[in-house]
Amino acid sequence: MNVLIINAGSSSLKYQLFDMKTETVIAKGQCERIGIDGHLKHSPLVGGKPVYEEDIDLPTHSEAIAAVLEKLASAEYGVVSDLNEIGAVGHRVLHGGQKFSESVLIDDAVISAIEDNVPLGPLHNPANLMGIRACQKVMPGVKQVAVFDTAFHQTMPEKAYIYAIPYEYYTKYNVRRYGFHGTSHRYVSGEAIKMLGGKKNSRIITCHLGNGSSIAAILDGKCVDTTMGLTPLEGLPMGTRSGSIDPAIIEFVANHEGLSREEIFDILNKKSGVLGISGVSSDFRDIEGAAHEGNHRAALSLDVFRYNVAKYIGSYFAVLGGADAIVFTAGLGENSAELRESVANQLSGFGVKIDAEKNKTRGKQIDISTPDSSVKVFIIPTNEELVIARDTKSIVEK
Ligand code: AMP
Repeated sequence: MNVLIINAGSSSLKYQLFDMKTETVIAKGQCERIGIDGHLKHSPLVGGKPVYEEDIDLPTHSEAIAAVLEKLASAEYGVVSDLNEIGAVGHRVLHGGQKFSESVLIDDAVISAIEDNVPLGPLHNPANLMGIRACQKVMPGVKQVAVFDTAFHQTMPEKAYIYAIPYEYYTKYNVRRYGFHGTSHRYVSGEAIKMLGGKKNSRIITCHLGNGSSIAAILDGKCVDTTMGLTPLEGLPMGTRSGSIDPAIIEFVANHEGLSREEIFDILNKKSGVLGISGVSSDFRDIEGAAHEGNHRAALSLDVFRYNVAKYIGSYFAVLGGADAIVFTAGLGENSAELRESVANQLSGFGVKIDAEKNKTRGKQIDISTPDSSVKVFIIPTNEELVIARDTKSIVEK
């Protein structure tokens, strides 16, 4: 079976087509500027076909899906001879709220539940729904599955997800910790359990460190705590997000700068994090470069980020009663040896030791701990699309 994976944003749509016999991606691409003018880049990965890239008219997500399907089956750029060869569609959906603890076959009830969660994911859920509705229109009869970023974290105990604010905000508005990057934490923790030889009651700390960053504590394959909260703003400082701060800062800065609530939240989401501290960039490569050239604020932003990564990992040792493995994944976690070295040094009191040579590895699944380290340290490249494709296949075949 071939499974089409869709990640729909408000004006963009990324896709990958998987051949599930071999679990390989046979084509991928993205539509951009949907509803503005339109641009499609399509890359066939089998059959030696050329890449297609053009500005084309994409007034809505339906035209975008139609254009993708046309390319997937075209003589010049295609990877299937007939659209019937696409057996199912898997959608990445941001917020499943408390309703979804696993992936589901999409029907009217699921669509209305995703709609109910729009207040919790106001930027992403409406866009995800546009992708779903466009596929229903353009590919009627093809089964579709929703895979939620929040689902894996639904196993957290109450004490980890309840905030210490009046309880009625939870009962009235579902204000609680949800956590994000769930598909990534689930994939890399599953791989880590395999690397631990299928150990029972394993205690794993997964660090998804990219432009958005979160850490999760995973006991026997189930998430028991994570750093992101009601929204992806909580927890670690990130590329442009502040992460956790004293909530009193909001009123303090608003009063001093004469800013509205919306302006403050825009600053906390888009102008804070390592960008806010360094003033250089939100891209960790640029910041590492500036730090090497002696830029103090760039070096400081890296220090703050790495210190917080180690601090949350340390707190999850307490949550899990120790740890069998720490996993680094996503753009920064998979690629930055400097980051891993700094975090491991900060955790040396827990007996964490990494091998300097093995730590130079990039983008490959590997154990980088020394034989005498009391905790394994793994680099595991994440593969959220593969998880979505596997869930989609198994649900539609049920
Ligand atoms: P992601 O959101 O997972 O795509 O990760 C993007 C982040 O990973 C960006 O901030 C990149 O700067 C960072 N990144 C990617 N490659 C490297 C690298 N070799 N060294 C340091 N940071 C990197």
